[in-house]
Amino acid sequence: DSFDAMGLQENLLRGIYAYGFEKPSAIQQRGIVPFTKGLDVIQQAQSGTGKTATFCSGVLQQLDYNIIECQALVLAPTRELAQQIEKVMRALGDYLGVKVHACVGGTSVREDQRILSAGVHVVVGTPGRVFDMLRRQSLRPDYINMFVLDEADEMLSRGFKDQIYDIFQLLPTKVQVGVFSATMPPEALEITRKFMNKPVRILV
Ligand code: AMP
Repeated sequence: DSFDAMGLQENLLRGIYAYGFEKPSAIQQRGIVPFTKGLDVIQQAQSGTGKTATFCSGVLQQLDYNIIECQALVLAPTRELAQQIEKVMRALGDYLGVKVHACVGGTSVREDQRILSAGVHVVVGTPGRVFDMLRRQSLRPDYINMFVLDEADEMLSRGFKDQIYDIFQLLPTKVQVGVFSATMPPEALEITRKFMNKPVRILV
């Protein structure tokens, strides 16, 4: 039960330890490795369990840093949460040279477009702005091979269902999917059935 035993890249481990984590939380112990192996993973977990670092580590481990293309898309229900995830992703991926951008409402569309055209590895955002960037072709989906829905139940209760489906339609068909949700209402189960392939289920 250590981060060292997970087969993570040296520079990711450095980022994790530099951030101040010493030992993985329960969800990290069970969730990081399956995600780094490319499996679809459903994690039923509350916030406060360390879920953010779970999917951030999984994403950071798998990115190809030799190309500057968006390879991972993380959706979250609120601007604040998306920006919080952006910070964690950037901090854990500091020694890997990851480029992360948060696409959220209430910020300049032009500025998003400028940053995306300069190149990023990961986009974290709220469904509305992310869909807008895809629709404008400012965010190109071609290289996206990881798709994470954080607080899926919360996104659904905020009315983002159609936008999540619209976004998923635009992604490459073989995308790896991670779903994090405190609860599993029918609409969340429907997402897991429609988007995921033989998902591993982790309940903490
Ligand atoms: P989250 O569930 O992702 O919102 O994380 C809850 C809090 O736990 C955050 O403040 C994290 O920084 C902290 N945290 C997550 N993983 C660890 C860990 N392995 N060791 C210590 N703190 C952690």
